[in-house]
Amino acid sequence: MKLKQYYEQIKDCQLCDLSKTRTHLVFGEGNPNARIVFVGEAPGKNEDLQGKPFVGAAGKILTQLLESIGLKRDDIYIANVLKCRPPENRNPKPEEIETCIPHLWKQLELIQPKVVCTLGNFATQTLLGKKIGISKVRGKYFQVKDSFVFPMYHPAATLHQGGLREVLKEDFKTLRDFINQSLEPNPDSVKYYV
Ligand code: URA
Repeated sequence: MKLKQYYEQIKDCQLCDLSKTRTHLVFGEGNPNARIVFVGEAPGKNEDLQGKPFVGAAGKILTQLLESIGLKRDDIYIANVLKCRPPENRNPKPEEIETCIPHLWKQLELIQPKVVCTLGNFATQTLLGKKIGISKVRGKYFQVKDSFVFPMYHPAATLHQGGLREVLKEDFKTLRDFINQSLEPNPDSVKYYV
């Protein structure tokens, strides 16, 4: 199955109540053969209106960070843990994540990326399957089966805490070095995860 076919299959998803308040389901966007996938939390207002991920203020920062390491949005794939906007941008509920997450797993199965960059606590904890603070794990690689999870701060966090922007830039440089080593990390930087 192709990503596009999977989108057609789920675009009218009604598995949870967020379907009642959304404008668009935000499936994801980018290169279906990407080696790098970015995963955010959930669509915000702009994303809900346009049906595309990371098109608001946080998206602008993400695009700049990608460009700072020579990547375009078309080079990578961007998706979210939740496909539909929580009203007033509230935090995702555990039952919403549980209901929606098979969509993300299916996307990752179809794309088969080498590295999944999780943006912020929700994406990181969901993909690592562990309640662990982003400040502890950011900038480190976690081997999960044949690929790596690479947690980073959410770009939106830098809107409220300007100092985090430098940390995020640093982590993007680590990602760039990883790409330049043909996606083979320094063994010392990998935290094996079970
Ligand atoms: N924040 C997210 O986590 N995802 C988006 O798509 C936009 C903002």
